Amino acid sequence: MISQSTNWDLIIVGAGTAGMPCAIAAAEHHAQVVVIEKASDVGGTLHITGGHLSAAGTRRQRQRGIDDSPDRHFADVMRISRGTADPVLVRLAVDEAPRTLDWLDDLGFPFAPETPALVYGHEPYSVPRTYWGVEAGKSILATLRPLWDRYRASGNITLLLEHELIELLWDGQRVVGVVVQGWRGRLKLQGKAVVLTTGGYAANPHLFAEVTPGHPRLISAASPTSTGDGLLAARRLGAAFRNGDKYLPSLGGLELEPGSGRADWWAAWALVFSPVYRLPREIYVNERGERFIAEDEMSPDRRERALLEQPGQRFWLVFDDVALHDGPSVVRQWDAAEIRARAAEGKVVWSADTLQELARKAGIDADGLQQTVKCYNEAVRCGHDPLGRVQLTHPIEKPPFYALLTYGTSLVSFGGLAVDGRLRVLDEQGNPIPGLYAAGEILGAAATSGQAFCSGMLLTPSLSFGRWLGRRLAMALR
Ligand SMILES: Cc1cc2nc3c(=O)[nH]c(=O)nc-3n(C[C@H](O)[C@H](O)[C@H](O)COP(=O)(O)OP(=O)(O)OC[C@H]3O[C@@H](n4cnc5c(N)ncnc54)[C@H](O)[C@@H]3O)c2cc1C
Repeated sequence: MISQSTNWDLIIVGAGTAGMPCAIAAAEHHAQVVVIEKASDVGGTLHITGGHLSAAGTRRQRQRGIDDSPDRHFADVMRISRGTADPVLVRLAVDEAPRTLDWLDDLGFPFAPETPALVYGHEPYSVPRTYWGVEAGKSILATLRPLWDRYRASGNITLLLEHELIELLWDGQRVVGVVVQGWRGRLKLQGKAVVLTTGGYAANPHLFAEVTPGHPRLISAASPTSTGDGLLAARRLGAAFRNGDKYLPSLGGLELEPGSGRADWWAAWALVFSPVYRLPREIYVNERGERFIAEDEMSPDRRERALLEQPGQRFWLVFDDVALHDGPSVVRQWDAAEIRARAAEGKVVWSADTLQELARKAGIDADGLQQTVKCYNEAVRCGHDPLGRVQLTHPIEKPPFYALLTYGTSLVSFGGLAVDGRLRVLDEQGNPIPGLYAAGEILGAAATSGQAFCSGMLLTPSLSFGRWLGRRLAMALR
């Protein structure tokens, strides 16, 4: 039974990637913690995340003879982000990262045997420092669960599932608790400090539109719980929001149900983020039917930025029947038969015996597409592509022709709460809001990754910052 008269050491809102280690670390230091979670289970995005972690100077790297350091990690993040990440938070993240990885290692984390590795789906680091578990994010959750259960059993962690944060309580000087709503009704909980770990807003189209002006409709592959609740509650109290303008889309999302605004990394995703994992046999065209990048461009960052410039941040992969049957499929989860079946449905991929008919069905400019395919076939024939494509093995000439529509997709949100180096939430004047802390994607992807995707620089900082805050607050508050 939750007592509304208890003055908890710590109130943690959101039992996901950052919230779970925060509660565990506080419990390890004997704090009495209440965790509020709006879903029916803990874990948040850990249920669906790709699970790539990054850390430099880990035991696992040393065992494999990889010479690395947090300083090199820091330099790589600032290079890849072109200096757009927050250096104070990146510093804290890279310094804490090896401790986090070694901790997971101690807890029996089931590392994929090929890790640490260089990952080419994002701009690569200078040394192998990306790790993942055999079951992606679920491996992280499975590693945390036994500790989580232990501290729940000891009474240090009290969990309130299916209750959501409505409001932060302010006594005129500091945040002193939260108002939550759930199956127990509306509760007021008091605490010495409140930590917001409610995640990002990449599943909230209204908030996305508000803070990402000029960008098209949100296509989300984030957890449906990522609706920015904590961020909105903190903003109502005067917290500063930053970095919404550092948005960058991910490539390859398919809107399986047109108009739904949803894509699903695990259900269907086009392999267009790097030629390292699949050489292109198709061309990419925008709605004018124009190519806009060499399809075998090696830099994921250049690919993402090129997509930013396209109308509607969408493009079609156009290929012919030879390409459909040759080599690995263009959609990770679909074989050629599935693509043909989906083309018959005509929701996300279309086929036709002529390019003109294909363009009409798919919504591409027909003259533009025909002209583009003609030029591209000529490039294949003479071995020289004006856009610099090297992989010139497949002309587009054998019907039926196919067009697969992909969108710039949000797995994460870039904007977030402004915090200082102690993860205290800041107001518009840059002053800490007493009693209020935050960790995880609520800080925005841009905080630790800038306007770029640095491998593992969401998950690892979420785990590390959660853990770091839980430990420090428990020690300070008791
Ligand atoms: C498909 C996918 C792949 C990804 N791959 C990677 C990767 O490989 N590497 C990487 O670094 N990052 C990756 N990310 C991003 C990364 O997983 C997330 O940024 C990170 O897990 C977010 O952690 P969090 O704790 O901030 O949020 P979450 O883990 O989402 O936790 C937030 C929790 O708060 C709860 N909550 C929300 N609102 C309320 C409320 N009002 N009241 C109570 N509870 C609430 C939610 O239900 C949830 O449980 C990926 C994301 C996606 C979607």
